[in-house]
Amino acid sequence: MGVIMKKRTFYENVYEHFNVAANVLKLSDTEKEILSTPDKILSANLKLKMDDNLIRIFPAYRVQHNNSRGPYKGGIRYYPELSLTEIKSLAMLMSFKCALLELPFGGGKGGIEVNPKVLSRRELEELSRAYIRAFHCDIGPDRDIPAPDVYTNETIMDWMENEYSKIAGRETPAAITGKSVQNNGIPGRVDATARGAYYIIRRLINHIDSDGRLRVAIQGFGNAGYNIAKLLENDKKFIVVSVSDSKGAIYSENGLNADSIMQHKKVEGLIAGMYCPGSVCQREEHMHITNDELLRLDVDIIIPAAMEGQINRDNASKIKAKIIAEVANGAITYEAEKIINNKGIVVAPDILTNAGGVTVSYFEWYQNMNDERWNREEVYRKLEEKMNSALDEVEYVSEEYNVSMRTAAYIIATRRILASMDSGD
Ligand code: NAD
Repeated sequence: MGVIMKKRTFYENVYEHFNVAANVLKLSDTEKEILSTPDKILSANLKLKMDDNLIRIFPAYRVQHNNSRGPYKGGIRYYPELSLTEIKSLAMLMSFKCALLELPFGGGKGGIEVNPKVLSRRELEELSRAYIRAFHCDIGPDRDIPAPDVYTNETIMDWMENEYSKIAGRETPAAITGKSVQNNGIPGRVDATARGAYYIIRRLINHIDSDGRLRVAIQGFGNAGYNIAKLLENDKKFIVVSVSDSKGAIYSENGLNADSIMQHKKVEGLIAGMYCPGSVCQREEHMHITNDELLRLDVDIIIPAAMEGQINRDNASKIKAKIIAEVANGAITYEAEKIINNKGIVVAPDILTNAGGVTVSYFEWYQNMNDERWNREEVYRKLEEKMNSALDEVEYVSEEYNVSMRTAAYIIATRRILASMDSGD
């Protein structure tokens, strides 16, 4: 009888990725334990009066991983299948991401176990405010600064900032980032994650041979996926042939139009089944496929921009792309990465590829702390500089140690976190 290998949890996958770098750096078991154990785990049961007057309870978390480089920083995710281990993993990723980008932050993450799609606007606002009331003592511009993540957005951040300021008794915009521009947010935050990834992809395509436009498939069509589709669509080097959401994917040989897809999604609530008059999507070659089929397409670049663990040992060997730009946190499992590395696929790891979001969040926090205002061009220029210099370092260390870009990214970040822990900064 064959041995059935147990699937690793999200946290185990993040730990294994880190552990490869830790072994290269010859870290002790104690150092490994310190760097992989959160400082604090906060949880609460949020009680919400629904529109039908019934009270429902929603479990909520905030995990503060490591603050040796500065206040904890990380998004808040609303998701029906959310778990504490997922939030722990995401908080750990944030510590390494902030260190890699040389931001003066540590890592944190939060979330609520909820399907926000079934809540009314009033219920969503009340729940978001309840989250801040539950955790406000541990949040603040010098303590822990939340931001948007899966199924949260700038409106939710505005409510949260307003609730925090009410409790603090003064305007405290720097307590939350990812706010709307009208509410002390920063221009360019909405597409910052996508733009940061785009800057990385534009450079990585020099690693592959190709003639003609590079064919791209994007899994996930939310903030990150939609905005990256738009950026690539406007660049003659690329053609986006497939996109998906949680219900399924669409494919068109001649390219898709991000705005028509978004328009359809807003009306129908999903991408699959899409028919949009006047757009390229109504052509005959437009096909409906599954999320897994999207990952197996014969394309040059795959961008997972949905949830963790989507590229795993069951599908990794079927991937034909030459580059995977990991926009979703933890999209590639540890086992899948080994298969992918053996196939010679270039992997731009999550802590580098999706760091544009937290980098522009840092710019927003900095502006709020110093009462400054930067315009969009300045934000894009500073973001591009930051992404380029992180990629330069990752490529340098990857060559120096003959390791993958992910391991190189972890080596750089680990050294920085350990250095600040040693110096007690
Ligand atoms: P979002 O909520 O705006 O969009 C998520 C998208 O993923 C939606 O289109 C949803 O339909 C789709 N999706 C959900 N489950 C799926 C599944 N099982 N299969 C396929 N598609 C699925 O979220 P986002 O902000 O775009 O975040 C996407 C990923 O990027 C997450 O991993 C998040 O942690 C990461 N990320 C986001 C930011 C940011 O600034 N938004 C920053 C860094 C990392």
